[in-house]
Amino acid sequence: MFENTTKRTELGDLGEFGLIELIQKSIKLRNPETLKGIGDDAAVIDSNGLNTVVTCDMLVEGVHFDLMFHPLRHLGYKAVVVNLSDVYAMNATPKQILVSIAISNRFSLEAVEELYSGMELACEQYKVDLVGGDTTTSTSGLILSITAIGIAEKDEIVYRNGAKEHDLICVSGDLGGAYMGLQILEREKKIFLENPKIQPDLSGNDYILERQLKPEARKEIPAKLKELGVKPTSMIDISDGLSSEVLHLCRQSGVGCAIYEDKIPIDPQTYDRAREFGLDPTVCALSGGEDYELLFTIRQEDYEKLRMHMDISIIGHITDAGSGSNLVDKSGNQIALTAQGWDALLKKN
Ligand code: ADP
Ligand code: MG
Repeated sequence: MFENTTKRTELGDLGEFGLIELIQKSIKLRNPETLKGIGDDAAVIDSNGLNTVVTCDMLVEGVHFDLMFHPLRHLGYKAVVVNLSDVYAMNATPKQILVSIAISNRFSLEAVEELYSGMELACEQYKVDLVGGDTTTSTSGLILSITAIGIAEKDEIVYRNGAKEHDLICVSGDLGGAYMGLQILEREKKIFLENPKIQPDLSGNDYILERQLKPEARKEIPAKLKELGVKPTSMIDISDGLSSEVLHLCRQSGVGCAIYEDKIPIDPQTYDRAREFGLDPTVCALSGGEDYELLFTIRQEDYEKLRMHMDISIIGHITDAGSGSNLVDKSGNQIALTAQGWDALLKKN
């Protein structure tokens, strides 16, 4: 399938999601214990009563992070958190991680220690155990691949495919901040490279810089939902931007959606910086990515239970598939959502 001497399909034409879909189609599941394979935030395995979820994510220097402005300790923390976020997105509790690194002799022992101190801090924060991994040499940059394992009761798992027409679409926290943090860091890097005597000016941007450099996974959201007696009908974490993730939920659930622009939660700092950069704050929230907030759907009858929760915004509702997936802008116009999320294979570096 992948080796064909007469035909060559460019990966850039497929995009990351197209490639994953093709891989998925070529893979056969053989064990009844494998309840869910490729296609959600994590795989789900029947472990004799409880379910185990497994997920992995890889971070590549120059693609996912830039060591010119990403402290190694924060990078270690972030690498763990982005994996745990996928476990929470399944409504499961993370328990263990495995860490694989490919590293060149450009790095010292002290650098590796910094990286692991960040990972250990995240393990402490989220009460998970680092139980193994792999170490190898890299000829170029640093590569980090982390696998996270979590558990949940069988009936607690929430997939991407359970959204039903009329369900309400909810999102935790606020969106677009990590993207604006990155814009600030890249601007200051450029100024520094042009004139190393100028010190970076990062003042007044603490919140969005932290969103980019040291994000958190929303572990308290599934816990809160459980406490309120609300089980989401579908859930995903926002790694690639609201637009892309909503489309995943709708596609896998066979439904459409209406998202209301004026309901999308955006922090004032994100909003102000976006304006200063000449960017539309809504576009930053829709397409920015790396927010690691949770996007989920609930049944209408659960609305009252969530209505007063400060950190959850209801941003729209699920429609039938025929209506499409739309953003209703501030003037009431419907605009079809497109997956402009961060796509590794399309991104120009
Ligand atoms: P997320 O953004 O939540 O990490 P991804 O878009 O990376 O999700 O992955 C979606 C699904 O595709 C997951 O089930 C993941 O395990 C699977 N997947 C991604 N890359 C590959 C690959 N190279 N081979 C097999 N499965 C993959
Ligand atoms: Mg995910």
